[in-house]
Amino acid sequence: MAGLVAAYRLSKRGKKVLLVEKTNELGGLLMSTKTRGDPIEKYYHHVFVNNPSFINLAEEIGIENIIWTGSTLGFYTKGKIHDLSTPFSFIGFKILTVPEKIRLGLVMAKIKFIRNPKKLDDMTAKEWILNNAGKGVYEKFFSPMLKSKYDKNADKVSATWFIERIRIRTTGGFKKESLGYIDGGFHIFIDKIEQEILENGGDIVKGKGINKFIIRNGVMKGVVLDGKEINANNVISTIPLPTLAEYKDLSVEFRKKISDINYQGALCIIVGLDRKVTDFYWINIIDESLIGAIIEHTNFQSIEKYKDHILYLASYPDFRSHLWKLSDKGIFEEYFKELRRLFPYIKRQNLKWWKVSKSKKAGIIYETNYQKKVIGHETPVKGFYIGGMFNGYPERSIENSVIAGEELAKLCD
Ligand SMILES: Cc1cc2nc3c(=O)[nH]c(=O)nc-3n(C[C@H](O)[C@H](O)[C@H](O)COP(=O)(O)OP(=O)(O)OC[C@H]3O[C@@H](n4cnc5c(N)ncnc54)[C@H](O)[C@@H]3O)c2cc1C
Repeated sequence: MAGLVAAYRLSKRGKKVLLVEKTNELGGLLMSTKTRGDPIEKYYHHVFVNNPSFINLAEEIGIENIIWTGSTLGFYTKGKIHDLSTPFSFIGFKILTVPEKIRLGLVMAKIKFIRNPKKLDDMTAKEWILNNAGKGVYEKFFSPMLKSKYDKNADKVSATWFIERIRIRTTGGFKKESLGYIDGGFHIFIDKIEQEILENGGDIVKGKGINKFIIRNGVMKGVVLDGKEINANNVISTIPLPTLAEYKDLSVEFRKKISDINYQGALCIIVGLDRKVTDFYWINIIDESLIGAIIEHTNFQSIEKYKDHILYLASYPDFRSHLWKLSDKGIFEEYFKELRRLFPYIKRQNLKWWKVSKSKKAGIIYETNYQKKVIGHETPVKGFYIGGMFNGYPERSIENSVIAGEELAKLCD
C-alpha cells in the first residue's frame, strides 16, 4: 500500500516512476485471492471511520462504494458466544463478576480521557491493565485478547499500543462499531491505483525483487533489477524492515538499527462452507486455542457475492511454533480440526474449499519503548527513503501506510 500510494502520487505529479513488486501481484498484505464469486483479501481487512487518508484517496481515484456496516463482536468461551457488540451488552456478560464489570467500565472510560497515551510507552499493557482494572479483568478479558494478537509476545506489548487500540475499536460509542469495506473487495482499489500509475506514464515490474541498491559516496544512484542497473534520482523502499536489513549495500549501522524492530507472523486460514458458523462478524476466542479470532466475512458482506459462507481463522503464532514448519495442508487440517472442536456442529462435509495465507512479516510487535525506536523516512543515504507499516505507531493499518506513501512522495519532489 505504501509503495503503491507513493508511486501513484509521484506519477500523478509527472515524475517518471518505476514500481517494483517482488511477488506476481500488487497489494502486499492487502492482496486478494479468488473465491467462487468476488475475490476477497488474503487476510481479513476493513477500514475505520477515522481513516481519512484512505477514504479521500479512494474517492480521488473514483471509488465511491465503501459500504459501512455495524460490526458484531462475540467472545467465545466454554462452548458459548457472548455478544459484546455494544457497551450495553457488557451488562449481561456472565464471565465477569459485577465488581469486575464495573472496573472494566471504569477503565474503558478512563482510556477515553488519557491525554497522551505515548507517555505510558515504558509500561507494558499487562502492568497497566493490572494496575487499573485488576487481576480478574486482566485474566478473564484482556489477557486472552492480547495472547490471540501477539501469542508468546503478549506480555511485551506496550500500554500505549493497548490504549490506542481500544480507542480505535470503540469509535462507535454506545452503538456498534462501523467498519468500511469496498463493495466488491479491496482489490478494486489496488487495481485502480495500478491503472492510474500506468496511465500517468509509470512502469510496473512484478515478480522480481530488487537485487541490489547502487550507492556512491553516500548518494543513492539506483538499483539492480534482474541483473540490470537502473538509474534513479530517488529510491523508495517499502520492503519490510527485516528483508531490507539483508541488503549488504546498506551500512552496517543502518541495518542494525532497522533490525531492532521486531516483526510477527500471521497465519490466516480461509474456509468456504455451505453453512453459517455463527451470526457474528468477529469472534475472539477466549479459551486456550490455536485460533485467536474467527472472522465470518459473510456476516459482514452479503453471501450472494461469494456463493459460499466465508470464514477467516486468524492467528499470529510465535515463530517458535511448529505451525510454521507445516505444509499448507498440514496447517489447514490443524485449524479445521480446531474449528470443529469449538463448533462441533461443523462437519467435514460442510467444507467447500480452503486456502492458507501466511506471512512472517505481517506486523510489528509494539514492545515497550517502541516510540524511541520508530523509524522515520530519511536514511543515511541521500535520495533513499523508506516507509510503510513501521512508521505508524501505535498501530499498523492501511491508513498509516497510505499516510507513509503520501509523505514519501513529498520527499521525492
Ligand atoms: C492478518 C492481517 C489483518 C489486517 N487487517 C487490517 C485491517 O482490517 N485494517 C487495516 O487498516 N489494516 C489491516 N492490516 C494491516 C495492513 O494490511 C498493513 O498495515 C498494510 O497493508 C501494510 O502495507 P505496507 O505497504 O506498509 O507493507 P506490505 O503490505 O508488507 O508491503 C510490502 C511489499 O514489499 C514487497 N517486497 C518485499 N521484498 C521486496 C523486494 N526485495 N523487492 C520488491 N518488493 C519487495 C512485498 O511483496 C509487499 O508487496 C492487517 C494485516 C494483517 C497481516
